[in-house]
Amino acid sequence: MRLVLLGPPGVGKGTQAVRLSKRFDVPHISTGDMFREALAKKTKIGLSAKEYIACGKLVPNEITIGLVRDRLQNPDCAKGFILDGFPRDVAQAEALDEILKTLGVPLDAAVYIDAGPDILVKRISGRRVCEGCGATYHISFSPPPEDGKCQRCGGRIYQRGDDREETVRERLKVYKASTEPVVDYYKGFGILKAVDGEKDANEVLEIIISMIQGRQ
Ligand code: ADP
Ligand code: AMP
Repeated sequence: MRLVLLGPPGVGKGTQAVRLSKRFDVPHISTGDMFREALAKKTKIGLSAKEYIACGKLVPNEITIGLVRDRLQNPDCAKGFILDGFPRDVAQAEALDEILKTLGVPLDAAVYIDAGPDILVKRISGRRVCEGCGATYHISFSPPPEDGKCQRCGGRIYQRGDDREETVRERLKVYKASTEPVVDYYKGFGILKAVDGEKDANEVLEIIISMIQGRQ
């Protein structure tokens, strides 16, 4: 299964990617997580991405596309992958097509998850993330353990710096200008599957699975 998950920040791409990755036994590839891990390790890529992430802008394509190209060549992607947060503009979508052409594999679907602005703001402002494993919680919808430690790995749970109001506004602007055109890009190839992301996370998952298996 080779999937791209598209949609605005906070809509639930990561939440669904984790579940789809388990269901289809393929890796979950989140460029946001890769940048945050690189930053925590203070690698060259992490340090180059730092300022862009902090102000809600896209990390330049010459960094991001290379990162994804290397990751998709890893043997664990032979069975497929769930891409979350990439592509984020049309140039990245075209680069992904090239990478997959070279690997000789097609994309099965681009799943577009959407929700209205009030829901996005509620989800982003309540999001909490584990520093150790990247697990995502929400203060109301999936509350973290009371001791503030991740139930999966025991890591510290924190609020992402770029989930603060000012940066969120910029990220939503960048999404509208750069990422929304990617929805039409995949529509043009006939592989776009749209799902209402306002529903409960379990329901969203089942709808996605039905759609990609051609039952809806
Ligand atoms: P994205 O990866 O698209 O930025 P996330 O998957 O991190 O979004 O979800 C953002 C926040 O919303 C998280 O705190 C997550 O727990 C919560 N969330 C995700 N999907 C749902 C849903 N369907 N209903 C309620 N809360 C959700
Ligand atoms: P995310 O975890 O997907 O919300 O991404 C967090 C931040 O990482 C974004 O606001 C960008 O600064 C950066 N980022 C993640 N994915 C990409 C991408 N495909 N292209 C450029 N920047 C990205």
